[in-house]
Amino acid sequence: MIRNIFLLGALSLILACTPAQVRETPAVPPVPVSDRDDVMRIHFIDIGQGLGVLLEFPCAAMLIDTGGEQDAAFDSDAALIGYLDGFFARRTDLNRTLALVALTHPHIDHTRGVAAVVRHFAVQNAIDNGMTQGSGGAGQSELQQFARDHAATTHYRAVHLDDITQPQGLTDAIIDPIRCASIDPQIHALWGQVAGDPGWPGLRFGKTPFQNANNHSVVLRVDFGKSSALFTGDLEEPAIRDLLQRSEASGALNVDVYQVGHHGSINGTLPELVTAMSPEVAVFSMGPASRHLTWSAWKYGHPRKEIVDMLEAGITRRRPEIQVPVGLAGEKFQPQRITKALYGTAWDGSVVVEATADGRLKVVTARATAN
Ligand SMILES: [Zn+2]
Repeated sequence: MIRNIFLLGALSLILACTPAQVRETPAVPPVPVSDRDDVMRIHFIDIGQGLGVLLEFPCAAMLIDTGGEQDAAFDSDAALIGYLDGFFARRTDLNRTLALVALTHPHIDHTRGVAAVVRHFAVQNAIDNGMTQGSGGAGQSELQQFARDHAATTHYRAVHLDDITQPQGLTDAIIDPIRCASIDPQIHALWGQVAGDPGWPGLRFGKTPFQNANNHSVVLRVDFGKSSALFTGDLEEPAIRDLLQRSEASGALNVDVYQVGHHGSINGTLPELVTAMSPEVAVFSMGPASRHLTWSAWKYGHPRKEIVDMLEAGITRRRPEIQVPVGLAGEKFQPQRITKALYGTAWDGSVVVEATADGRLKVVTARATAN
């Protein structure tokens, strides 16, 4: 009996130490890129369901969001840190320093890796929308606390919509700390925390659009000479409509590269936005439809067919043809051929868009070399 109890104990110890499922090896090292040093590279890192974008410039690097999906099948932190380690091994001149870490909003698929990022790399500037509530509120709090604890070396700013008074957006030395000798990239915030409810109609999961942190996403536009990119985080329809109205006259939304809003969710992109941007390349950041888990792209049906169709219709540039699963609803997908320059981290692995100052783009992906 005593021996049986001992054996049972040993067995449960073994079981406790054995992962239920072997995790996928993160996609490292980074996507092979050209040896040009006069370009901007936008690395959409495959962090599963979530967002993590590294922007590489001739003299600096910055990060928008920190992923990502953490479950029995995927380890977002390992994927993100592994990718950044590989990146800084190539760019030794940057001394493992991020000139800026920008968080779009306090949801866990965007803030999960904050603790790992500040532990592994130097962070000179940090921005978010100032909120600390939500599934990823702890991540934003952590970044804010890190900046307070390291006030001499890390500067922090919360981006509020009320502060965005210029049609081309808001910028300062914290939002845009990067100035390279050869070229000065321009970083502007076009949206941020909304102070009072604009009266956006509708109710989802018992919440008004104003109570949804997605609609307070920090939206960033980044320019590198004649090349430009827009990052809308998870901004949803009512806020996108207001953003369109604010930016109509200035052309601030007219960009070459689009981080497809809200992982390709039905409420993250509007035809009017696609028209205003006229993008050449659009990139979805999402997990694969094959991981049948909660908090997954499969669960949400990302990216949705309607959004894929909208971008296929709105983009003229082509890509090597690919057949991918597109969402009809949560947990429901069907295959679809993609011929336009739509890329996805679930389809292509990490995606790098290389942009020259004279406005030429090249796309390289982890799973195959595209054009
Ligand atoms: Zn998200």
